[in-house]
Amino acid sequence: MREPFSLKNLVRAGLDKLVPYEAHLYPDVIKLDANENPYPFPEEVAREIGQLASGDLLSRYPDSGAVKLRQAIAGYAGVQPEQVMVGNGSDELILNILLTFGTGGRVLITNPTFSMYKIHALVAGARPIPVPRRADFFVDVPALVTYARQPESKVVFICSPNNPTGNATRLGEIESVLHQVNCLVVVDQAYLEFGGEDCVPLLNQYPNLLILRTFSKAFSLAGLRVGYLLANPDVLRQMQKVKQPYNLNAFSQAAAAAVLEHRDIFRGQIGAILEQREVLRRGLEAIEGVTPYPSAANYLLFHTNYASKMVYQALLDRGILIRRLGGPELPGYLRVSVGTPEQNKQFLSVLTEVMELLGRE
Ligand SMILES: *Cc1c(COP(=O)(O)O)cnc(C)c1O
Repeated sequence: MREPFSLKNLVRAGLDKLVPYEAHLYPDVIKLDANENPYPFPEEVAREIGQLASGDLLSRYPDSGAVKLRQAIAGYAGVQPEQVMVGNGSDELILNILLTFGTGGRVLITNPTFSMYKIHALVAGARPIPVPRRADFFVDVPALVTYARQPESKVVFICSPNNPTGNATRLGEIESVLHQVNCLVVVDQAYLEFGGEDCVPLLNQYPNLLILRTFSKAFSLAGLRVGYLLANPDVLRQMQKVKQPYNLNAFSQAAAAAVLEHRDIFRGQIGAILEQREVLRRGLEAIEGVTPYPSAANYLLFHTNYASKMVYQALLDRGILIRRLGGPELPGYLRVSVGTPEQNKQFLSVLTEVMELLGRE
């Protein structure tokens, strides 16, 4: 007689620490939870992208080297094409960095920050080690360097501007870390178009620097999943070994190149978002019991004295979706994406109502 079948005995060790990532869809809400570009996708670019689905673009396998897109990205970022790798969202690149360099080692994560670093560290069989930021949410550089110098440390993640806190790490501090450690330092600059200092000037000097960027935020392509990594060609050559040959589909490659060609249109939207960020910040500041934090990105972190779950739910009940943080690291904190002027106005008015309501209870 065989033992009863047990899936639990077969699941890879380490996955027990993971719960599947769920992103709920809420139709008919004002969506300010995922830091997407809130403006309508520019019509002339949409038309151009629509016309790409012709010839053999859809029927043939994509260019696994994504040569044209990498060239366009190199021109935009000010690097050589050999320093560019594209991914199915920067999420995929985070996983591939960790599969190439992290497995079996330690991965240092400057919490509170983007959740995918820890998730992908666990998926890749690496050990995520939190290195808490200071009370003002800036990176604790001496602590990070101390941890990074331990022999099993392989990869450090610094998100700048940081999601969800909004503050950016100074270039001098990034350089100080790069200079003092032997592990890889990944700087996630998903929000660079909205603020923070560009790390590209450090790229030629530090072979351990990896810069992550994306088309999902400023460039409105979250639905097509296009991210990219800027790094030393030796780093990318190692990563080629784990990269799925056709990771980025042909349509997304072509669409991202088209978006870069029309980046002036998006510049206008980015300018409007930056103006609205200030409007939103002042609006939050004016609400009794609400404290917003400074931001170099297209979202704002704010604090109230109520459980973030309560504020979140009361907003959602009134048709506004934002990001609930909370937990021991960010108790009472929430994050709201900068929307269009109308969305921001609506959000501020509903939040004012919710705060009054909670104050009376
Ligand atoms: C949104 C975001 C990304 C982008 O992820 P994609 O997979 O490219 O959509 C990466 N890093 C951070 C910190 C983000 O907030």
